[in-house]
Amino acid sequence: MAACRAVSRRSIQSLSLRSSILRPAVLSSRLPQATLGGKAGIRRLHATPTSLKPATSLATSTATEYPTTHEQIQQPVDTQNFLDNQFVGSKATQWIDLHDPATNNLVTRVPQSTDEELKAAVKSAEKAFPAWSRTSLLHRQQIMFKFVALIRENWDRLAASITLEQGKTFADARGDVLRGLQVAETACGITTQLTGEVLEVSKDMETRSYKEPLGVTAAICPFNFPAMIPLWSIPIATVTGNTIIVKPSERDPGAMMILAELCEKAGFPPGVVNVVHGAAKTVDFILDEPAIKAISFVGSNKAGEYIYSRASANGKRVQANLGAKNHAAVLPDCSKDQALNAIAGAAFGAAGQRCMALSTVVFVGETKEWVAEVAERAKALNTNGGFEPGCDLGPVITPQSKARIEELIASAEEEGATILLDGRGFKPEKYPDGNFVGPTLITDVKPNMKCYTEEIFGPVLVCLNVETLEDAIDLINANEYGNGAAIFTNSGSTATTFQKNIEAGQVGINVPIPVPLPMFSFTGNKKSIAGGGANTFYGKPGIQFYTQTKTVTSHWRSENAVATKKADVDMPTHS
Ligand code: NAD
Repeated sequence: MAACRAVSRRSIQSLSLRSSILRPAVLSSRLPQATLGGKAGIRRLHATPTSLKPATSLATSTATEYPTTHEQIQQPVDTQNFLDNQFVGSKATQWIDLHDPATNNLVTRVPQSTDEELKAAVKSAEKAFPAWSRTSLLHRQQIMFKFVALIRENWDRLAASITLEQGKTFADARGDVLRGLQVAETACGITTQLTGEVLEVSKDMETRSYKEPLGVTAAICPFNFPAMIPLWSIPIATVTGNTIIVKPSERDPGAMMILAELCEKAGFPPGVVNVVHGAAKTVDFILDEPAIKAISFVGSNKAGEYIYSRASANGKRVQANLGAKNHAAVLPDCSKDQALNAIAGAAFGAAGQRCMALSTVVFVGETKEWVAEVAERAKALNTNGGFEPGCDLGPVITPQSKARIEELIASAEEEGATILLDGRGFKPEKYPDGNFVGPTLITDVKPNMKCYTEEIFGPVLVCLNVETLEDAIDLINANEYGNGAAIFTNSGSTATTFQKNIEAGQVGINVPIPVPLPMFSFTGNKKSIAGGGANTFYGKPGIQFYTQTKTVTSHWRSENAVATKKADVDMPTHS
């Protein structure tokens, strides 16, 4: 075992990426040199625009000027609230320092928005709602078209803010933006998505259904997809006529602040999209505020289960996506290289900080011999600052997160598992102070071990062995999470048996991260979604979530075309 553990951290760093198919296709675009070429070293603090005027100060980034390095920002500017289409400095007394995960240099301070600021956001959203809900659908659609165009124009700027604050690679950050952009693009089709139903239920009597907005809504977001997750809510909430208050993660609100600027530019009236900041205190305010009718939450089970119960008890509609432990079952008849590349890419991409990261692999039968080849692929990945060309995975979000991940790796060792590849203590040469953990593989894992029962949320792949497909299905179904599961096989029958019997809500067949595009919905299951999965993000259920159905039954008697004087006292007989 000692020999296996001895795979050195230095060798992880020095090996270059051998194959572009190590990353999921949707996230595989490389950092465009043209974008970075002449811009290295620009240190405009993009995340906290101080006004909506064209960029005139170092504190304001633009679609073409934004940070492209991890160099220290000389004069970090505080993050602001966004109320009534204005960026407003907070009068907070509590501030949360936000550090670049690659260096731990200060990027900005995020306010714990004051009670007055939180109340002002609600007041503004309430004030905007009547006129916005009556704005014609075609007008709202036009704003959505502009919003989409502006996100495209600011794509790299948004991605750069994510790399700086969240740490993921620039290429992966572009994928984060893309997945949110696709929700906004799909929302542009609202004119065919919001049609109601009509039926003549009796002679001259018909029932029609309408989908009406709810009012003021709120979104509480996690750190790991700073653009995508706000965009799971903003387009659908607003295009259906609601107003929305967004609380981005206090650990990386920069992308949301750029999106707020783009909302104003796209033509959303003041108050339709407001942004407030903070941690649990802001969340508690949102949960208890009577004017807020619906809450979208994405994040951990600890916060999400609490948020779901408290908001539901307060009579609010809640959609809440939670944590995960996603499994891949590897069958001996699969296309081996394709499967192993896909597994390594999906386990270690984004430093494992995706709710759909493939964090657990179940080798079926003789495929357990392939684990060394997965380790080879993991070693070939380049762990570095996210702006560095060729970087495959960046740091994890905070020093606390790094410590937690390393503790979970240690717990596996203590419980008798083998650390086949050990990324603990890894430091890229240029970034000795960052929160880096190199790709790690844990083998000989048993289902009762902590590294298996807990979501690690880091670049750690946990490996288990079973003898048959049925054993793999039983093992995966016994896990309490149910976000995603993948199978690698070339047998249609095997794939179909897996698909039909597996309890995960999102199943991949030779697809490592089977997240549906927004014409479908994000369909986690079991402990990965609150409320039994009744409400799921985007797609048709997303529109259902943000609207209340009203039915209207009307009776326009044909006889009344000629005046009569006799009252009709009977119930309609549907004849
Ligand atoms: P988190 O739960 O720590 O934070 C999410 C949000 O909740 C933040 O805005 C935070 O301010 C707030 N929050 C945190 N603790 C709180 C508390 N005690 N009371 C009230 N509010 C609180 O999650 P995170 O670390 O930002 O994100 C990672 C988690 O999110 C992982 O578990 C991951 O699996 C999950 N996630 C799930 C999905 C999905 O679709 N299922 C997608 C992305 C992330």
